[in-house]
Amino acid sequence: MRVLISGGAGFIGSHLCDYLLKKGDKVICLDNLLTGKKENINHLLKDKNFKFINQDITEDFSFPGKIDAICHLASAASPKDYLKFPIETLKAGSAGTLNLLELSRKKKAIFLLASTSEVYGDPKISPQKEDYRGNVNCIGPRSCYDEAKRFAEALTIAYHRKHSLEVRIARIFNTYGPRMKKDDGRVIPTFICQSLKNEPLTVFGKGNQTRSFCYISDLIEGLYTLLITPDLIRGRARINEPVNLGNPSELKIIGLAKKVIALSKSKSSLTYKPLPVDDPRRRCPDIKRAKELLGWQPKVNLEEGLKRTITWFKK
Ligand code: UDP
Repeated sequence: MRVLISGGAGFIGSHLCDYLLKKGDKVICLDNLLTGKKENINHLLKDKNFKFINQDITEDFSFPGKIDAICHLASAASPKDYLKFPIETLKAGSAGTLNLLELSRKKKAIFLLASTSEVYGDPKISPQKEDYRGNVNCIGPRSCYDEAKRFAEALTIAYHRKHSLEVRIARIFNTYGPRMKKDDGRVIPTFICQSLKNEPLTVFGKGNQTRSFCYISDLIEGLYTLLITPDLIRGRARINEPVNLGNPSELKIIGLAKKVIALSKSKSSLTYKPLPVDDPRRRCPDIKRAKELLGWQPKVNLEEGLKRTITWFKK
């Protein structure tokens, strides 16, 4: 396949580039480097099957030649980043998604949208199933991300219905691993860096809110399987509808803090900071659909994934 990846220099995007190249595919990576980093793809620049283009996908652009698949991952994704770039985040989900869907339609390329568990907002039911409609504050601080992704899903399914475009919608739950930015504010890189410096870990609220963390290699396998699993196979009729991808093992943030301190053999203590506005109290994916449609489920448990990530941050 010749695959175009928007946001290919980001955390998840760059791992997807690596994976596709290893499978023998050709990869065109588009990124405007607003939150992505050239370091994530420097090792790929000499590969003849890899091409990097510094492109803002919210602007008009064309692309020559055949493309088999478009994976749309471009967006600020950490709360700190999207609070800093709210308009850019809304544009990436709206204008950016529209531009890439149009390109998919012209090229007859399959379109994969990287959506998010944030479409469920602060959920009133747990675990979250794909048919849960969510509890989102449309003018809250997280709305620039949540509503951008909800709009992107609506646009994607409209292209499927109106133009019979082959689409995939991955609702990605918290994912972690090497190449996360140490200062992007997300809880795992923050806790690991604080632990390695023996500084207090900043727990927001009382740390009773939960998350479910998926290791990057598991997520990438899920995304790839979703991309290549064909439509119109009996029992797979819902492959064009959203699919949760995440690790269903749920824990409290306070538990995560203690685990990170123990695994990094740190002398850090805990310090408590106010809970951010609209911070979801629970988050846990129901992955029955992914299991049934894709035969996929995560393999790397939290302890193993954290050890690998700590080792990477140490380096
Ligand atoms: N969090 C925390 N301390 C930090 C950063 C985050 O306690 O230094 C909490 C945050 O309030 C949230 C959870 O960890 O409940 C996950 O936050 P993150 O920013 O990683 O992702 P989110 O799931 O909120 O998008």
